[in-house]
Amino acid sequence: MPTFPRATASHFVCPHAASLPRLKPALIACSMALCWTAASATAAERSVEEVADIYRQAATLAAGTQHLRLRNVVCPASPPLPVTAPFAVVPSEPAPRVVPPLADWYHEPVKVFDQLYFVGTNEHSSWAAVSDEGIMLIDTLYDYATGDAIVGGLRKLGFDPADIELVIISHGHGDHHAGAKYLQDEFGARVVMGADDWDLVERDRRNPIPRRDIIAEDGMSFTMGNTTVTLHATPGHTDGTMSSIITVQDNGVEHVAALWGGTSITERTTTDNVQLYIDSAVRFSNIVQSAAADILLANHLIFDGSMDKIPLLATRQAGDPHPYVVGTQTILDYLSVAENCARAVMAYR
Ligand SMILES: [Zn+2]
Repeated sequence: MPTFPRATASHFVCPHAASLPRLKPALIACSMALCWTAASATAAERSVEEVADIYRQAATLAAGTQHLRLRNVVCPASPPLPVTAPFAVVPSEPAPRVVPPLADWYHEPVKVFDQLYFVGTNEHSSWAAVSDEGIMLIDTLYDYATGDAIVGGLRKLGFDPADIELVIISHGHGDHHAGAKYLQDEFGARVVMGADDWDLVERDRRNPIPRRDIIAEDGMSFTMGNTTVTLHATPGHTDGTMSSIITVQDNGVEHVAALWGGTSITERTTTDNVQLYIDSAVRFSNIVQSAAADILLANHLIFDGSMDKIPLLATRQAGDPHPYVVGTQTILDYLSVAENCARAVMAYR
């Protein structure tokens, strides 16, 4: 264990400041300890494992009790799995997808905010912003679920799925884009996705491929009724991942939601993409802060805790806090977990 040098004013300029986690004030003492740990041995003296562990510890501190699932999914195991072929390389003979029985994945549709509804499965989220001007949807689930969860879900809630005007795809993996073609064909919905992920989707051998439509640009926004969705390019999980800032209301009170568009890093994520992921997490943190976002949404239930929060909505009384309104710092902590787990992954590359 290295000994910490006596602190002087100059010692507080951490040489690793750029790569150290951004933590809440209560954790500054800890981050200084991490800084000393990082600073008091040269790169040659530190093992890869030690460096990875510094970032894993930072992720664990930022995770607290709220983001442990995120930490456990994104942070690398020790030692990590060997790096393999990237996601973009599609096997020539992909195994057919096994369609699970409805009972294994079906989730009732749920009103979450005044105009925002959950129409996902018990694993994947699809968010529907409903207005007189039409319905905007974020993500479309695997195609086996689109009919029952999204189309059937909207009907159960009293809406007409023919009003789906716009489908935003957070990133081009089958669990998010596979229902888009059906919504295009059936209801004439427009589909928006990052340019690189249109390319990715067109190479997809396992899922229906939507016709190329709107190319998402960084900063592009869409407004229907009281909801504005602004897209931010956050490459990493895929090259074309788009994260969203979404305005919503809770009993008429304005809130801002942040949705990190692509979350996991695996042994198939290229080293370039791990670095992009780190840069995107830092950038989106600044966007979250500027937007004063106070709601955390995700496209998998495990990441935003929807499986715990949705049941709370059913028993919520007037005046009770909204379970999805977590405050800006909790979202920044979430992105700090993602960033530091990615830095731990990078330590091994
Ligand atoms: Zn994905």
